[in-house]
Amino acid sequence: MRYDYVIIGGGSAGSCLANRLSADPGSRVLVLEAGRNDSLWDVYIHMPAALSFPIGNRFYDWRYESEPEPYMDGRRVYHARGKVLGGSSSINGMIFQRGNPMDYQRWAADPGMETWDYAHCLPYFKRMENALHAPPDNPFRGHDGPLKMERGPAVNPLFKAFFAAVQEAGYPLTDDVNGYKQEGFAAFDRNIYRGHRLSAARAYLHPVEDRPNLEIRTRAFVTKINFQGKRAVGCDVVHNRRTETIEAGEVLLCGGAINSPQLLQLSGVGRASELLALGVDVVEDVPAVGENLQDHLEVYIQYRSKQPVSVAPALKWRNRPWVGAAWLLARRGAGATNHFEGGGFIRSNEDVAYPNLMYHFLPVAIRYDGTAPQGHGYQVHVGPMYSDARGWIKIKSTDPREHPAIQFNYLSTKTDRREWIEAVRISRNILNQPAFDAYNDGELSPGPSVETDQEILDWVAKDSETALHPSCTCRLGVGEDSVIDPLSMKVHGVEGLRVVDASSMRYVTNGNIYAPTMMLAEKSADLIMGNTPLAPINEPFYVHQRSDGSAVADGRTAAPSEGAGEGNGAGAEAPATSASAESPTT
Ligand SMILES: Cc1cc2nc3c(=O)[nH]c(=O)nc-3n(C[C@H](O)[C@H](O)[C@H](O)COP(=O)(O)OP(=O)(O)OC[C@H]3O[C@@H](n4cnc5c(N)ncnc54)[C@H](O)[C@@H]3O)c2cc1C
Repeated sequence: MRYDYVIIGGGSAGSCLANRLSADPGSRVLVLEAGRNDSLWDVYIHMPAALSFPIGNRFYDWRYESEPEPYMDGRRVYHARGKVLGGSSSINGMIFQRGNPMDYQRWAADPGMETWDYAHCLPYFKRMENALHAPPDNPFRGHDGPLKMERGPAVNPLFKAFFAAVQEAGYPLTDDVNGYKQEGFAAFDRNIYRGHRLSAARAYLHPVEDRPNLEIRTRAFVTKINFQGKRAVGCDVVHNRRTETIEAGEVLLCGGAINSPQLLQLSGVGRASELLALGVDVVEDVPAVGENLQDHLEVYIQYRSKQPVSVAPALKWRNRPWVGAAWLLARRGAGATNHFEGGGFIRSNEDVAYPNLMYHFLPVAIRYDGTAPQGHGYQVHVGPMYSDARGWIKIKSTDPREHPAIQFNYLSTKTDRREWIEAVRISRNILNQPAFDAYNDGELSPGPSVETDQEILDWVAKDSETALHPSCTCRLGVGEDSVIDPLSMKVHGVEGLRVVDASSMRYVTNGNIYAPTMMLAEKSADLIMGNTPLAPINEPFYVHQRSDGSAVADGRTAAPSEGAGEGNGAGAEAPATSASAESPTT
């Protein structure tokens, strides 16, 4: 059978595309997902607090590992990726962050990217979401979209102490980090609805799975995209141990930031010299495939608590049956939260235009994968949000089952290292404010032996983990440094092939990247179907100003758009609107 669209990867972006494209009954859509189905009985997926279980488990996770990282003493960094319907949205931490509006201004400042500024992205953020806590007249938030989200309660007394401590340290609170002002601290939105994880598959795919023009195959591993000349005409897929050739009018690659460049390279689209050296027939020389890899690295800064108020008891093995039972019977209790209920965004120095550090606060001291619990304690996760470190992904052979080589080059730049030192010092300052006096029983990690700049960097090199936000490896743009066309999502130089997933980002955004990936998919659906794009929304958003009223541009970020610079003093609020606010041009 021939399909109009074959979607490779039933993950986050793939689920959104499948829903939107199959809404046209005249289009036949096939989704091919390498992982299993996301059965409703699978507690590890659907119980929010079980989020650490799928990591490292071959039934859910591709289980990647970086090459020895050259600026981390050759340490290999483990990297989880969802391998199940819903992709990484079925195993992620459920934190919903759009990024800063300035992220999109930065995208749009590059040649050809004008239609990706905040004004053009905002209507798609709104279309996809149902922000249950937001007032109906909030111009930033959506209320009718498939992604229902709840606000973290953040009522543990340690959260109260944290929000007081950040203010004592001189940082503001904000109403909504996804609204007018990202900068500051607040409770976070989570993709949790009525005690359940709401993955992209559950929000977008399952509600329409009965459409006669939509077919979803799981355990279907795509090994190659097939071309006739320069036109993609389908793919080879291994399903039930049989290889089948699928014919399609268009191939939509949604394999994620690691698998999408890998599959392009295996299929002959990438840096020609490297592909030829491996014996791959080159279809098109696109050197940027797999380049520009960006990510967020993070550390845990942990304190012991004097008082037994943390959520540590709920995570103890002996208490898990009760937690599980409360969740199964009533969808309540410690099983119904991801524990990432609040945090915030700040600038670590006066040279950055918008927040470059993100904080997650947890009322427990434990690693993300559930290991090394520290009794009653609390912690922040912190790390730079738009590091200028760049890595790459390259296939090592023509075997699609062999993992590609992945190198992030964490800590490779002066700016990155500077921000790491600032991040650790600022975090300690916050966690040592008087608001924590009733709880602060000393720093557990990194501990007092880590004091000088070099000691901090050595500790980060040894102890940090990825925040699991690989991106930009098939980035939007019009130059040599890009892979896909900003007006169509088509891969440069070939026909019938588009990439829509976290690899499409121009630059990694400030915060967790699931929401930006879904926005990209929503906007791409209109581009693919030839719909009139949603009209841009020119809503003023917060931009920080220096005390002399000038806006800040640090070279990595775009200069703030017109409208900034009318503030009223140090750290003043200055509304800015998008620079390219004219009617849609896509
Ligand atoms: C453990 C973890 C925690 C995270 N926590 C958060 C968080 O709290 N908040 C947040 O915003 N972000 C978080 N992220 C990141 C975020 O979830 C991802 O960046 C985002 O979901 C990526 O979406 P995607 O569509 O690019 O890829 P994915 O959702 O990963 O989808 C890709 C899909 O393609 C499939 N696939 C790949 N290759 C093939 C092939 N050859 N054939 C067939 N199918 C294939 C994969 O199996 C997968 O299902 C986390 C990620 C992980 C892994």
